[in-house]
Amino acid sequence: MEQIWQIAYIFAALSIIGSIKWLSSPATARRGVMAGQIGMLFAVVGTLLRHEVVDYEFILISIFIGAAIGAPLAYLMPMTAVPQLTALSHAFGSLAAALVGTAEYYRLTPTGFTMTALVIETVLGYLTFTASIMAFGKLQELVPTRPITYKGQNFVNIALLLFAVSLGLWMIVEPTPSWVFPTFTGLSLLFGVLLIIPIGGGDMPTVIALLNSYAGAACAAMGFALSNRLLIIAGALNAASGFILSVIMCKAMNRSFLNVLFGAFGQVQEGAIAAMSTKPVHSATAEEAAAIMSGARKIIVVPGYGMAVAQAQHKLRELTDALTKRGVEVRFAIHPVAGRMPGHMNVLLAEADIPYDKMHEMEEINPDFAEADVALVIGANDVVNPAARHDTLSPIFGMPILDVDKAHTVMVIKRSMSPGFAGIDNELYYMDRTLMLFGDAKSFVADIVKELPAHS
Ligand code: NDP
Repeated sequence: MEQIWQIAYIFAALSIIGSIKWLSSPATARRGVMAGQIGMLFAVVGTLLRHEVVDYEFILISIFIGAAIGAPLAYLMPMTAVPQLTALSHAFGSLAAALVGTAEYYRLTPTGFTMTALVIETVLGYLTFTASIMAFGKLQELVPTRPITYKGQNFVNIALLLFAVSLGLWMIVEPTPSWVFPTFTGLSLLFGVLLIIPIGGGDMPTVIALLNSYAGAACAAMGFALSNRLLIIAGALNAASGFILSVIMCKAMNRSFLNVLFGAFGQVQEGAIAAMSTKPVHSATAEEAAAIMSGARKIIVVPGYGMAVAQAQHKLRELTDALTKRGVEVRFAIHPVAGRMPGHMNVLLAEADIPYDKMHEMEEINPDFAEADVALVIGANDVVNPAARHDTLSPIFGMPILDVDKAHTVMVIKRSMSPGFAGIDNELYYMDRTLMLFGDAKSFVADIVKELPAHS
């Protein structure tokens, strides 16, 4: 038995490492998910075979409860709600780590190294739990999504964290009175809530990647506390990949960690909105758009968050097929932070069976916009805002963007002149070469598809 669970753990670790590797490309992502599931299966079965497990009754009940919550969540949540689902999984994972830490504290009241690991496990576990629940609430719009700030907020948060850390250090150094651990737990839970309150809803995916890293670190610490190597390996991989992902996201937005966590980004600039409604734009109908597209040779489509909201990817596929049949070259330009989570656009376009070789990353396709007859922007806004290149006062200044303004004709499908995530105006809409196609992305694309046959 001893050897079997160790072998299961080795397979679990290998599968999890493979999973992370394969998840790094859309082409191998499905294999990555499968490897991750197999890894978890090996890990669970291996653990159940360990000699410490003497009673299966509670484990079976727990598996049943977990599956009863997890399976409907996975099936019922729409693709646009994947960030929320991820936040919930982190909340459950980190709560599990924190509860195991609490149980170990009361069972063993350990000292030295084990106590250090246990303190790290519980502080990260509890704060990640409440922070993830708050992130879920913001994304689901159950709590206000705009940043909530007040004077001295950062001071209060840091003081609270320092107090919790001091209690943790006290527990490591010597046996403490009975009030210390519950107070430490309460402070960690409270810190998680306060950490998220000043962060805008749109920044939640970056925060979730960071929380993923905290949850991983909590699990790795749990591995040290329980002397479980698999937990150390899986937790460390989780912590590192979550951290790297959040760094990549910050870089793509040209923002620092500190700006994401404390910058209260996403407050709509009221003056800018008032100015937007007065400036003239050129709008066009689906029929006019179809006429221009059927005469084009090269079209580059730029999807954004609005395509996800409208679920327009299948109609977009129909439009791509219809244009390709007419000899038009249609390609897709993917900005690294288009949408609300990394890979958001790739996943949706792949769901509509748009081939990977038609999707191009920003650096690769940017030089081609000057050659494109049409750049069709569908529900994207910030990622095509030229202000990022030259307006030093713009909140998105320095963020690399897709150069759609270089195309011969720019078409923008969106419902109104409302701003995107950054809450700012977009000068692209007022260019002479830009045609605004006002409407819901899915129905507007469907109308263009209907109009195409009339323009052969
Ligand atoms: P934006 O949020 O900038 O713009 C989305 C646009 O979609 C809006 O202007 C909106 O205009 C339009 N829209 C919404 N619903 C519909 C609909 N049903 N039909 C048509 N249009 C619609 O999106 P982008 O993808 O351009 O940029 C993403 C932003 O999110 C960036 O600022 C990025 O930094 C940020 N971000 C991205 C993360 C990621 O990992 N991808 C993570 C965190 C933040 P209207 O209301 O007028 O229709």
